[in-house]
Amino acid sequence: MIKTNYHTHTTRCKHAVGSDEAYVLAAIEAGLDEIGFSDHAPWPKHPLEEHFIRMHMDEYNDYVQSVLRLKRQYANKIKIRLGLEAEYFEDRMEVLKKFIDETPLDYVVFGNHFHQLEINGRYYGRYQKTNQLLEHYEHDSIAGLKTGYYKIFAHPDLFVRSINQWDEDVANMSRRIIQCAKEMGVVLEYNLGGIRNFSHVDLAYPYDPFWDLVAEIGADVVIGVDAHDPEDFLDFDSIARAEKILEQKGINVLERLAF
Ligand SMILES: [Zn+2]
Ligand SMILES: [Zn+2]
Repeated sequence: MIKTNYHTHTTRCKHAVGSDEAYVLAAIEAGLDEIGFSDHAPWPKHPLEEHFIRMHMDEYNDYVQSVLRLKRQYANKIKIRLGLEAEYFEDRMEVLKKFIDETPLDYVVFGNHFHQLEINGRYYGRYQKTNQLLEHYEHDSIAGLKTGYYKIFAHPDLFVRSINQWDEDVANMSRRIIQCAKEMGVVLEYNLGGIRNFSHVDLAYPYDPFWDLVAEIGADVVIGVDAHDPEDFLDFDSIARAEKILEQKGINVLERLAF
């Protein structure tokens, strides 16, 4: 069973439940000895955006203080890290850079959810311009990975939800992304949120053929709970399923990350 999880949300993102402390308590109950909070990063709002899946800029300080408080409070029970899950929004990257430079962030998770703007048609899990999906997803993924800002690439196969079929073009794009992550030292996340939410869907993450390529290329992998509910830590079925699949594929799963 996993001992760490670096993908944990809070209610500030508006689609999670439970107090910050409840996540810590559930992680301890699940036997974890290290967790990282990585709530959806705030971005300065573009006029076309609503920001329905993230905290506001002015909530960031409270988020930081809350995680630091829990880190001190539970120091003898569990190691707590402060992170963020952030997109690659190319015209706003100075904001993320500022968080990295000026606040006590331990790491950033790359959540490549949207192309340039947080609007429905730009969500990579339901991309509207399907003929440009691969081009845009690859561009944002590679550009994001190359910033050096991110430590983990969350659900790198998110785009699978927007394709009609897995073909050679999709496989080749995936290879280039996986290769780039490996070269940049960014760990790929096998996302348990996908197992919890989409296991009945054929084209969804985590998608087997993608992870066969990860095995072939030999990139490092971490399992991410992507907790949006403290209970997610106690979903041992999905954890066991993920561990079994990754082991069968011969994938190198890191038990913990170095900071
Ligand atoms: Zn979320
Ligand atoms: Zn997440």
